[in-house]
Amino acid sequence: MKRTYIKDIVPETEVKLSGWIERIRNPKNMIFIVLKDITGQIQITIDKATNPEMTEKLSNVIANSVITVTGKAVLSEYVKMGGIEFFPTTLTVDSIADALPITKEASLDQRLNHRWIDLRDGNKSLIFRVNTTLEKGIRDYMISTGAIEIHTPKITIQSSEGGSEVFKLDYFGQPAYLTQSPQLYKQMAMASGFDKVFEIGDYFRAESSFTNRHATEFIGFDFEISHIESHHDVMDYLEGALRNALQAVKDAHSTELKETFDVEIDIPECDFPRIPFHEALDIVEKEYGYKGEKVDFDPESEKLICQYVKEKYNSDFVYITEYPFEARAFYSMKCEDNPKLCKSFDLLWKGIEITSGAQREHRYEVLKAQIAEKGIDPAIMNDYLEFFRYGCPTHGGIGLGIARMLAKLLNLPTIKEATYIFRGPNRITP
Ligand code: ATP
Repeated sequence: MKRTYIKDIVPETEVKLSGWIERIRNPKNMIFIVLKDITGQIQITIDKATNPEMTEKLSNVIANSVITVTGKAVLSEYVKMGGIEFFPTTLTVDSIADALPITKEASLDQRLNHRWIDLRDGNKSLIFRVNTTLEKGIRDYMISTGAIEIHTPKITIQSSEGGSEVFKLDYFGQPAYLTQSPQLYKQMAMASGFDKVFEIGDYFRAESSFTNRHATEFIGFDFEISHIESHHDVMDYLEGALRNALQAVKDAHSTELKETFDVEIDIPECDFPRIPFHEALDIVEKEYGYKGEKVDFDPESEKLICQYVKEKYNSDFVYITEYPFEARAFYSMKCEDNPKLCKSFDLLWKGIEITSGAQREHRYEVLKAQIAEKGIDPAIMNDYLEFFRYGCPTHGGIGLGIARMLAKLLNLPTIKEATYIFRGPNRITP
């Protein structure tokens, strides 16, 4: 007989159920089990006198063990759980659990040490079901607009962002790196005439950050699009993808998100506001008396500008645009009217940066000069520079950290909770 999910049980119909023992009570004459699967819970009732074999099988079984039962559910006015009660005719113990090594009161670190048990708790699989829908919403939008999904290599010979935050590895005697982002290979696809590409993949950053928003390995969503007029085309495209993804989450999970996380999905009615970096700095100083960094946005400025935008435009999203070139990667295109600034942007959501993007420099000579200006050894950029020698359209794109977005979406305090298995400077297990 095929297994039935608890949510699909029809009373008085013979079914087979498999799941976890959430609770088991073993008083004198009866055994009561709360059985749980991914879809719900049901009470199982066993009369010891008429089922001695089952009683024997369950004699040393405790909560968290896994069983399979066949039988029928009947309507019962005494049972709160869905108003039905299950009477098994057969029972198999698939796995006997030991007592759990962590309790509900365990610290985050202890929980992460036993992540597989932590994830069993309550409705935590919902986090990853929402993640699935979020990525599907993004992917559906990309595909509906003709974008090609690519998978770039994660082992490279050059670091994409420059700097020291790369994991080095020994590639058959030759030094190689784990990729920090698909940046260079997305741009290569533009030079190949792919027009629009995207990737959802794993990236690696050897940064020793102990924050609630940094991991050493994270899942990023990236896209790159060609034949753009400016970074504003990139922002428009990203906005379309995010609206689609949020709507998909809202459609699929509204009720359970409200019940489990007390979260309602807000999709802003207005366009995401766009505020140039220097204007944003002034706003933060004028409105809140806070003097931020002059070349980049620090976390406090991010929080304050989001507060301002929420009050003024009722939007949880805001684009900060035209950052100083000094603060951005060498491949950002400079603004024609002020070469100290570039056609870059960050998207902030509910107080933190979730995306960086820009129009990229596609002109070979200009790009070469920008590499030199950033003090990067041109020799290590030779392969990359070749992409721009044989014809390359204007283009731009973004990178977005999925766990950052998910954590904000579900009001989780850290991306550790929104990442299936977290990797940080002092965490490489399980
Ligand atoms: P931050 O300033 O917050 O460290 P960044 O400017 O280094 O981020 P980018 O290189 O622009 O980030 O990467 C684009 C996006 O990828 C970020 O907006 C973020 O959502 C995500 N991201 C970057 N680094 C990490 C990380 N270490 N852990 C998790 N997500 C990250």
